[in-house]
Amino acid sequence: MSYLVLARKWRPQNFAEVVGQQAVVRTLRNALTRNRVAHAMLFSGVRGVGKTTLARLMAKALNCSQGEPDVPCDRCESCLEIMAGNAMDLHEIDGASNRGIQEIRELKENIRFFPAKGRYKIIIIDEVHMLTTEAFNALLKTLEEPPAHVYFMFATTELHKIPITILSRCQRYELKRVPFVELVAFFARIAEAEKVVVSQRALEMIAREAEGSVRDGLSLLDQLFSFGGAEISDGDVAEVLGLVDRRIYENLARALLAADLAACLEIFAQSQAAGMDLKRFANDLLGFFRALLIAKVKARPEELLDLADQELAAIKDIAAGASQETLYQYFSLLLKGSEEMQYSSRPRLALEMAFLRATQAGQIVPAAALLGRLDELLAGVVPESRSVARPVFAPISTAEPESAPSQPRTAPAVSATYSVPLAEEKIKERTEAATPLPEQSPPALSVLHQGREVKRDWGAFVEYVKKRKHWMAPVLQLCAMPREEGGQLILKFDDPSDCKLLREHDNLKLLQSFVLDFFQNDFRVVFKVAGAQAAGDGENDEAESLVAERRGLANDPMVQMAAEIFAGQIGSIRTGDGGKGNQ
Ligand SMILES: [Zn+2]
Repeated sequence: MSYLVLARKWRPQNFAEVVGQQAVVRTLRNALTRNRVAHAMLFSGVRGVGKTTLARLMAKALNCSQGEPDVPCDRCESCLEIMAGNAMDLHEIDGASNRGIQEIRELKENIRFFPAKGRYKIIIIDEVHMLTTEAFNALLKTLEEPPAHVYFMFATTELHKIPITILSRCQRYELKRVPFVELVAFFARIAEAEKVVVSQRALEMIAREAEGSVRDGLSLLDQLFSFGGAEISDGDVAEVLGLVDRRIYENLARALLAADLAACLEIFAQSQAAGMDLKRFANDLLGFFRALLIAKVKARPEELLDLADQELAAIKDIAAGASQETLYQYFSLLLKGSEEMQYSSRPRLALEMAFLRATQAGQIVPAAALLGRLDELLAGVVPESRSVARPVFAPISTAEPESAPSQPRTAPAVSATYSVPLAEEKIKERTEAATPLPEQSPPALSVLHQGREVKRDWGAFVEYVKKRKHWMAPVLQLCAMPREEGGQLILKFDDPSDCKLLREHDNLKLLQSFVLDFFQNDFRVVFKVAGAQAAGDGENDEAESLVAERRGLANDPMVQMAAEIFAGQIGSIRTGDGGKGNQ
């Protein structure tokens, strides 16, 4: 005997067997027992939730000659014929392939005649939204006054495509996605009957994947049954269906909220090693954070979340440990990351960058705090900090870089002069001797410049950054051939997404301060992205250097800060005579 797919084998033969849809089933049974069945019915809902199944059950009940009104007997001639699929009075039409006016005319011709055997002629049109406008119009008149011996049952996955004139003549039944818990229970029953041992978690993974569609879930079960023996493990599900255990999102969410980047990357790598689709992974992770948000704001999240008890408990637990703002921020950062993924040539990196941002999120300074800081600066309360203001005593104002405090921006420039180590003190003396005025004097810059060079000491600089801002180091390593040119530190990247995070306002500011501390030079950090603005290849081209300069200014933390505070965009940038645009 050939293998019968589960969806056919387990198709409900009476109303009691229907999975989910309790409300619709009750209404239909009532209509049958009270003999008040409408002559045109429309079943709508996503695929695999039981639309045509219910239509067939109605047909069977209407034409059954022996059973109760709402319980077909499954023994009479009509029932047997319908179950075998060869009933003369049941016409099943696929709306997708019989969509024209000609087919509807033939149908109308056909229903003029009385049923051959049963009491009624029953017309089921599946995917009825596929009918042409003319075909719908041809149906209208019949639906207005259907013959007493005819019942129409329509099924559609796209209710909105049905003309209102048709809708108003039908009794409508909207079928819901089958709840997760009911699907799990149904699949467990099937597994038991088929004598296959399937782990609870595996059943849950399948039910999750089915997204409320019984048929989808059954075809997944089919695949599993034909793969495995008498026992199916979580691992089999992962291997055969490419699904991952949802605990992976739980673990990842915990790691993200704990700002444990290493753990995040580890978990992510595991999912990729298991062959999980990247897009799917990102979507599921977003879904998990959505669930966290819902759990945070709603007293009874289970009303909105269709989840297994275990997962719900985990979600409530994680949500309890984080603020609503934090969850929202993580959600938007991940959303941003998954959107960037779509356009990036390195989608995996884009998602990893999103993890980075998220783990950094706790350190993002709120706008209000920034405004306060700006007020202080303007009022002169705080000495100008090195990273924000340009005309500082760059060469001599800082302490020895390696021992610099972890928050260099807050160290007032003046105090540092007292702690300048001996070697630098000497250099300072020498430079002061050569040129009495240290401020912005080129000789001072050039002398100190001998200390560290961009090209030669780049590796050391990356190490230096790594100790202070761990995540920045690998990003800087992606930079191809960093170089210094006319007061700019030019960082070239092959992929715009590589340096996107680095270019963000706060991060750029921080990088700028690292550059200043390490190279003892207030280079402006300028980003170049291969392909993006490479109009001409002439690197020494004057026009291009002007563009670069302007871009540098646009990157200037002060300019960016102003733009951010006033919610503006950087429009035209005019460079003054000084060329460096300091003031
Ligand atoms: Zn019967």
